[in-house]
Amino acid sequence: MATSTSSPRQQQPESQKRKDPIDWAEYFMAMAFLAAKRSKDPSTQVGACIVNEEKRVVGIGYNGFPTGCSDDEFPWSKTSVNPLETKYLYVCHAEVNAILNKNSTDVKNCTMYVALFPCNECAKIIIQSSIREVVYMSDKHAHKEHTVAAKRMFDAAGVRYTQYKPPHSQIVIDFTEIDWDSLNQVPATPGKNDTTTTEELCRMETLSIE
Ligand SMILES: [Zn+2]
Repeated sequence: MATSTSSPRQQQPESQKRKDPIDWAEYFMAMAFLAAKRSKDPSTQVGACIVNEEKRVVGIGYNGFPTGCSDDEFPWSKTSVNPLETKYLYVCHAEVNAILNKNSTDVKNCTMYVALFPCNECAKIIIQSSIREVVYMSDKHAHKEHTVAAKRMFDAAGVRYTQYKPPHSQIVIDFTEIDWDSLNQVPATPGKNDTTTTEELCRMETLSIE
């Protein structure tokens, strides 16, 4: 059974490295899942993370409307008698946003980590941007035409696709793992009645940085 890695501070000898960090694939897939949490889509939240051959993240994205197209004004509905009132004509998929958000010249030979198997439209863009591998979690639309078409194109273009089976059922991000008080090295922002002079504050800040 899969277990969760809640990463409590483990008691390991200080002189030895931790034996149980998350591995690269888990790390990148988790980044894709974290990006998905930014999505405003009420039904499907998808994230994608692009990694280059040196295991550096070069792009992240999630599904959403194009810049300037308000999440409050454009429709999130999946069904309507009027196609213009559904999300499909407007939403940018996570894969496309991740490619467009790249912080490198290109994404040639990169690997994309994505929660859902890409649709045919994203597959075209993945192929044309020279991404070489897609690592996905869910293939729940495997029977649908857009997935069949995507696989047909990936096979023809030589883009590998692999289903990822996570070694843990969850990764918990616990902000309380850090002791915030111990990080407060600089003096607190002075209040209205604080008599500490600017010179004294500067001196204290210099000391805390040292
Ligand atoms: Zn797509």
